[in-house]
Amino acid sequence: MLDRALAERIKLVGLDVDGVLTDGGIYVGLVANHALEFKCFHVQDGLGVKLLRTVGLPVVLVSGRASEATEVRAKEMEVDELLEVAPADKLPEFVGALERRGLTLADCAYVGDDLADLPVLRQVALPIAVANAVAEVKEAAKVVTTASGGRGAVREVAELLLRARGEWQDILKRYFRESSDVAHGARRSR
Ligand SMILES: [Mg+2]
Repeated sequence: MLDRALAERIKLVGLDVDGVLTDGGIYVGLVANHALEFKCFHVQDGLGVKLLRTVGLPVVLVSGRASEATEVRAKEMEVDELLEVAPADKLPEFVGALERRGLTLADCAYVGDDLADLPVLRQVALPIAVANAVAEVKEAAKVVTTASGGRGAVREVAELLLRARGEWQDILKRYFRESSDVAHGARRSR
């Protein structure tokens, strides 16, 4: 269980993309002579992001490569910001996104899997490694998830944070109430 005081200090969650929101696999091919890439995101992570945002925690994606697949998924998940930057610039670009919100690295959790995430992980309040992270990243992390990237690791992080903050039961009630409102609304408008 995560320390409650630490969990309550968190005001923003940063996520690496490849290897964290995906298993790191990239399907590359040509369609009508256009290079296209596909990635597999996990649907449970989408709800995890939504639950974090519901309790007022912004979610910022920090990717070390530009990818239309990532841009489509980021839009669908309604994350607060997607940074597509050079791997070596993850720390300054993330700090810039925090400054725009009046926050610092001491206010953040960050989830990573590879070496490019280390500069950020070494300075945030709550560094988290996914199960498939490289050894150096696991060593730098306070928490290592049971789930792998692209297999629900971000959902696990969301639940861990919300449980430690004592917000999990409330958020579940809210989620079921809103889902049933949507279902009733849909029935009425049929
Ligand atoms: Mg990665």
